[in-house]
Amino acid sequence: AAAHGPRIIRQLPAQLVNQIAAGEVIERPASVVKELLENSIDAGASRVELTIVGGGVELIRISDDGCGMTAEQLPLAVTSHATSKLPEDDSLFHVGTLGFRGEALASIASVSQMTIRSRAEGTPSGSQIDVRGGVIESPGPCGCPVGTTIEVRNLFFNTPVRRKFLKTPQTERGHIVEAFTRLALANPKVHFVLRNGEKEMYDLLPTPRWADRIEAFFGTEISESLILIESDDAQVKIFGFACDPAVSRGNNRMQYLFLNGRHIRDRALQHALGEAYRGLLMVGRHPVCFLRMTMPPDMIDVNVHPAKLEVRFTDSGRVYSRLLQTLRQRFLSTDMTHRVGSAP
Ligand code: ADP
Ligand code: MG
Repeated sequence: AAAHGPRIIRQLPAQLVNQIAAGEVIERPASVVKELLENSIDAGASRVELTIVGGGVELIRISDDGCGMTAEQLPLAVTSHATSKLPEDDSLFHVGTLGFRGEALASIASVSQMTIRSRAEGTPSGSQIDVRGGVIESPGPCGCPVGTTIEVRNLFFNTPVRRKFLKTPQTERGHIVEAFTRLALANPKVHFVLRNGEKEMYDLLPTPRWADRIEAFFGTEISESLILIESDDAQVKIFGFACDPAVSRGNNRMQYLFLNGRHIRDRALQHALGEAYRGLLMVGRHPVCFLRMTMPPDMIDVNVHPAKLEVRFTDSGRVYSRLLQTLRQRFLSTDMTHRVGSAP
């Protein structure tokens, strides 16, 4: 009989809600790194330093010289659905920042031990707040420069199942480096430093030339094979580089696509790349590309994917053909056929 009686429906406590949300947004240490780096960029930082220990599970520390936060803002920053980034009219279609959901810090704080130190521009001193598994302690004063430092320790300490699914520190570090690479490629004018423990892995000086940043990551073999791609359609602007077929890869992981400053993966656009190189590459080889596209925000919806990796275009056919045509035209005016098959 009890099986057919009315059930009790209860509102879940906020801490549990955040842990559940964290399950969607925060899959592994690299997801934390991605969210924190995005926040630093949104804060207008010109220098961002990232330190990881133990594949990011033991410690992720990020320091930026962005706009910072006041003592009053700190508890809000780690509260879910609280953001400073949505426009007044609450329109999701004109988002100009990388974040906008106000979920990341709350999610991360609910599954870790987090400390934030921050000082807002134009204020004489900084403040610090600690959050342990979602429990917020009230902020106190601390000495720090303008900007924000966030430390995330012991990721998933209170969600053992999640923690069990993590791979080795080396593998998790690989994912972090990939997230770092995407953000640093998207923002060449920002100085980025990445340290693994004491060891410096990257020190990327700001540069106006995208090719410099690409070379800093992938070396001269890639940077010397870049073919400039440019197209200025009224709606879809494309700027970047497609690589000479001689530096093709066995997988498509070296296809870096950015849309309005955000790294994206998009199967249709990857297909367009493959089509553009058809006849230039041997079967099973994939082109290497670095392409930034700019479109009016109302032509895209970034709110589709929890990690915002996938977007939805209002006119995907147009974006596809724009990319394909631009590359094809460029390849026609560049004699590349003599290089076909020269890659080992
Ligand atoms: P979102 O980025 O979607 O707004 P987050 O949870 O990532 O949500 O961050 C919540 C808020 O905390 C942001 O809207 C911003 O006001 C503030 N914040 C987070 N990180 C920083 C930072 N590095 N510098 C300044 N403000 C920050
Ligand atoms: Mg954010």
